[in-house]
Amino acid sequence: MKYTKASLTEFANQVLMGFGCSESEAEIVSNHLVLANLTGHDSHGIGMLPMYGLQVRDGNLIPNQTPDCHPSVGAISIVDAKRGFGHRMALLALDHAMQSIGEHRVAILGLRNSGHVSRVGTYSEYCAAKGYVSLHFVNVVGHPPLVAPYGAREPGFSTNPISMAMPVDGQAKPLLDLATSTVAFGKIRVASNKGEQVPLGNLIDANGVPSTDPDPMALRREGALSAFGEHKGSGLGLFVELLAGALAGGETVAAENYIPEGVFNNMLSIIIDPTAFNSRDEVTRRTLEFYEYIKAKPAAQGSDDVLMPGEPELASSEKRSSEGIPVDAETLRQIVEVSGEFGLQEKSLRALLVAA
Ligand code: NAD
Repeated sequence: MKYTKASLTEFANQVLMGFGCSESEAEIVSNHLVLANLTGHDSHGIGMLPMYGLQVRDGNLIPNQTPDCHPSVGAISIVDAKRGFGHRMALLALDHAMQSIGEHRVAILGLRNSGHVSRVGTYSEYCAAKGYVSLHFVNVVGHPPLVAPYGAREPGFSTNPISMAMPVDGQAKPLLDLATSTVAFGKIRVASNKGEQVPLGNLIDANGVPSTDPDPMALRREGALSAFGEHKGSGLGLFVELLAGALAGGETVAAENYIPEGVFNNMLSIIIDPTAFNSRDEVTRRTLEFYEYIKAKPAAQGSDDVLMPGEPELASSEKRSSEGIPVDAETLRQIVEVSGEFGLQEKSLRALLVAA
């Protein structure tokens, strides 16, 4: 079934307020999740709600948290999110870090101990809207690792995403936003919910053999995701773990024995004022010139077009804005089931959904 963006947002709002989020926090989180669905990243859309509900129920995710924003030292800011909803914590942390950008033309943020920050591209878009270049490195702790280091048959770190963007007229263009695994774990969950196989190369089974069956990983955490690009992606994922976990101080996945159960993110963000290097117009001119230069390259065999990072998400947003956002029945069932634990009625929740 496909649903309107507005009705899915209201549905997510009510679920989040049922979990205990204030109206304003629920709005930030629901807008974030539905935007992830809109951009085609269902792995980081409303399908995350059951996990958030269980984390809130178990006291591992705290609604309406006030983060500790340590006073900035030079360009460096540290924010402890104290396990608050990451979508809101990360924006507050970026706002805090950006206060030092006027003086230093750069701000470096270490966000620690945050609830899931979900689609990391959101933070590049947030910085680009304020005219800044940004790079974000995120590690994932609170559950056993998911991604096998190159050559290993067991997982050693998680899907450790990276996002970066240039600001062009307030837009993130281009916007690179990727997990350092071949796919985000949520895509394995979505394939399992839909009863689909995943492409060969995404997963290895518990014996280290390449597999297309998402169920052992999605349902029992057996096997491992593969890092993208063999040893290179594996090395990048490993360094994201070190930058976000060891350097920014939020712990690496090696702390799995003493971190509470859940999904927690740490993020190292580098936010750069482009006017420190050149006039804004000149940086924009060069960025767009290069953008068009790449776009003009002839397509390879089997490819219709040369896409820049961020273009698939823009195309998905346009399509889903007009045709509706697909949500599978199993994902809705899981959301309704967990919401029931917070006293929300299935009938009134489902009544909010409007078919597109
Ligand atoms: P993906 O593989 O769909 O896309 C990765 C990047 O490649 C994007 O920038 C996209 O625009 C670009 N791209 C895709 N197809 C392209 C093409 N044909 N030509 C040129 N560029 C192309 O994304 P993913 O790696 O599966 O990540 C999905 C989402 O998961 C991201 O939003 C990421 O932030 C999020 N994530 C979050 C966490 C977390 O813990 N918070 C962990 C992992 C991933």
